[in-house]
Parts: sequence; structure tokens; C-alpha cells
Amino acid sequence: MNIFSFGAEFTDEKSCRLHFKEQRDKQGVICKRCQSTDHYWLINKWSYQCKSCNSRTSLRSGTIMESSKLSFMIWYKTIFLLSATKKGFSSKEIQRQLGLKRYEPVWAMVHKLRKAMGQRDDRYTLEGMIEMDEGYFTIEASDQAQKTQKSGCGSKTKSNVMIMAESTVLEDIDTGKARKAV
Ligand SMILES: [Zn+2]
Repeated sequence: MNIFSFGAEFTDEKSCRLHFKEQRDKQGVICKRCQSTDHYWLINKWSYQCKSCNSRTSLRSGTIMESSKLSFMIWYKTIFLLSATKKGFSSKEIQRQLGLKRYEPVWAMVHKLRKAMGQRDDRYTLEGMIEMDEGYFTIEASDQAQKTQKSGCGSKTKSNVMIMAESTVLEDIDTGKARKAV
């Protein structure tokens, strides 16, 4: 996904939320109170409601975005920026790029994302990553041709991060050569 396809797909807060919901629905929602997995979707409240106990789960709740006040759009843009280059962007640069006033929430967001994505920059791929523990989510690539088969993954984050789809060939910014993301 490049900046143009990203911009075309994620045009506003709503499109980001709908995409996020799609990803969450694939994982399934578990009620915190009764562990039921059957929910209604309350479209006006952006929340799930448990069919057994009526307990509500907001779209953010139980995910990496829980407790963050930043919009879905800001999260999506940040994930894109973190994935966009080999080195990614610093929190400070992301704050500047997104025109955000406060540094702390940005730092917290980036910190969580880096943790979820893994420390290695090979992992800064938007596609096909999903973290089961913290409810990390995916942004899928539309370009199948860029995808390559997921190879074995020996990193420490293996237990936390599960690669659901194939990962993407990233281009090395120094050499321009494609390298395989794992
Ligand atoms: Zn319940």
C-alpha cells in the first residue's frame, strides 16, 4: 500500500472505523463480562452488545486503541507512517506530520504500535498482521502481486504476533532491492 492507495481507501474517520470493525469481526468479539462471543452491532454507538448479558464493548475496547483518545484516522495514518519507510518515523516526526498538539498521546500510541508490530523494521508492514493479545489489527493490501509467501518466523514476538495473510515484499530504501518481510 502506498500513500495514494492509502489516501484513497481511508478518506475519513468513518472509513477507518468501518475497516477496523471488519478486522475485529474476523477475530470475533468476546464479552468481558460473560465471555460470550455473540454480539449485536449498535451502529449508532460504534459498539457491540452482548446477546447474553447486554454488556457493551466499544469498537476500541479490548484493542490496542483502548484508552487512547486519538481518532481511528490518526491511528491508521500512524500505522501507515510507521510502515512507510524502512526506519519508520519517530514519535516526534509523526506528531509533526499529523499536526497534533500534544506529544504524550502520540508517544504512547507509537510505543504500543511498535510493540505490537515487533521491534524489527521488517515487521513494519501494514498487511496481514494481527496480534491476538492486544487486539492488534490489520490493514490489507489490495495489490496481490506485491505479496509473497510468508516464510518461517523465528523472532521473539512469534507468540504474540500471528501473521494471518502473506506478508509483503518491502523495498530496501538504500539499495532499492526488494527484500522479503517476515
Ligand atoms: Zn456478555
